[in-house]
Amino acid sequence: MIFSTRNEVQIMSEEINETELEEKEVPAKTTEEKDETHDVERYCYLCRRPESITGKMITLPKDIHICVDCMQRTMDSMGNGQFSFIDATNMDLNNMDLSRLMENMQEPPAQAVKKKDKKKKKKEKKELNLRDIPAPHKIKAMLDEYVIGQDYAKKVMSVAVYNHYKRVVTNTMEEIEIDKSNMLMVGPTGSGKTYLVKTLARLLQVPLAITDATSLTEAGYIGDDVESVLSKLLQAADNDVDEAEHGIIFIDEIDKIAKKQNTNSRDVSGESVQQGLLKLLEGAEVEVPVGATSKNAMVPMTTINTKNILFICGGAFPDLDEIIKKRLMKQTSIGFHADLKDKFDKDENILSRVTVDDLREYGMIPEFLGRLPMVFTLEGLSKDMLVRILKEPKNAILKQYQKLLELDEVELIFDESALEAIAEKALEKKTGARALRAIIEKFMLDIMFEIPKDDTIGRVIINRDYILNHGTPVIELRGQ
Ligand code: ADP
Repeated sequence: MIFSTRNEVQIMSEEINETELEEKEVPAKTTEEKDETHDVERYCYLCRRPESITGKMITLPKDIHICVDCMQRTMDSMGNGQFSFIDATNMDLNNMDLSRLMENMQEPPAQAVKKKDKKKKKKEKKELNLRDIPAPHKIKAMLDEYVIGQDYAKKVMSVAVYNHYKRVVTNTMEEIEIDKSNMLMVGPTGSGKTYLVKTLARLLQVPLAITDATSLTEAGYIGDDVESVLSKLLQAADNDVDEAEHGIIFIDEIDKIAKKQNTNSRDVSGESVQQGLLKLLEGAEVEVPVGATSKNAMVPMTTINTKNILFICGGAFPDLDEIIKKRLMKQTSIGFHADLKDKFDKDENILSRVTVDDLREYGMIPEFLGRLPMVFTLEGLSKDMLVRILKEPKNAILKQYQKLLELDEVELIFDESALEAIAEKALEKKTGARALRAIIEKFMLDIMFEIPKDDTIGRVIINRDYILNHGTPVIELRGQ
């Protein structure tokens, strides 16, 4: 394309020479007139538009002129965004030369350099040490600050995580092989499964990748391969393989990859995914693409050893309670101690009686369950727990709103009855604590909009009536 344009330019310059010749025959102009006409109009070497349309041009050696638009486009396409830091629109068009331009291109952008420095610092900071790993009671105490209730789950996780990292740091694998403490969490939606893992990873300062098991499929089918979970972890660790190898992977919705019952077709998103995850859970060297979630020829690969990666799986396992009830009924339905059929219907925490057999019955394959030695349940959230979630955690929603209004020098108070009303509304939605924020945000909108209008307001009290749409909040003026 450049050749053809060059030919065109040659033809063009011949035309120009002709016009110059013609011009020579015209009677000489005054000096003033000469300045105004500016010799001959210049054309862009690439897009062939005249300078009167493109605006000022960049002049390269051999009298080649390029308009700003084409210059920018060329740079963008050359580096595929790599040279986007060069802004052709701001170039000094009159004094531009090609060598300076090339120098500009070779210099990396200042921002990129900064980022690398940051990463180095981070790396120096994070060398796992036995002393750095908090004891289980300390881990639990830290979790207590953020997560309400779920005492059993927090206890199991603290011990499992402590043992896991102790094993990683001391590398005591040779004498006695200590098994990995991969976990399986069973708990209703919105009960804090993801939140627990996120909080844990933040407290331990290890990279965390959260994946949805529903997006995974057997290799070769539409969807993500199981190895993509490792790519995500690598990304979370800023492509630092060492750090990724000590990270945590949380696979949510694990119940969705249960073996499909009564199916004749190949179960590419169920049992096959469980099979695929086996080698990752146990510990294997896996080739993963760097900076992408799928393998292809253009992406560089690296090897990650999953031996020290902690896997936590979580799922709501709907209808698992029926399987548990059935098992319990079988055990007690013979002899004088036979129970009534509905004995377990009222047991709210029936899920806590789950066994590995129940999960196998649900559709999880034995090899998969064997690699998740810690199985525990989270309770469904009660009204009291929801009220506590509203006000007690370090980053509780109410505390956040109170802080926001405090900046306007307004005190925000929630009546205890108002909190109960919010919890009741959230319970109706059956999405656990997830419903709380949506409910609060809805009625706080008016308050956050109206209060800053009036400087005289000193205190706002939210009561039950306001939550139930029967009244307005109590507003007190300053100095009252
Ligand atoms: P799931 O169990 O479905 O993974 P999440 O962990 O995503 O539920 O919970 C949703 C939100 O609810 C969290 O972001 C958190 O703010 C809140 N939450 C849930 N359970 C608790 C809890 N026990 N203590 C404090 N906040 C909680």
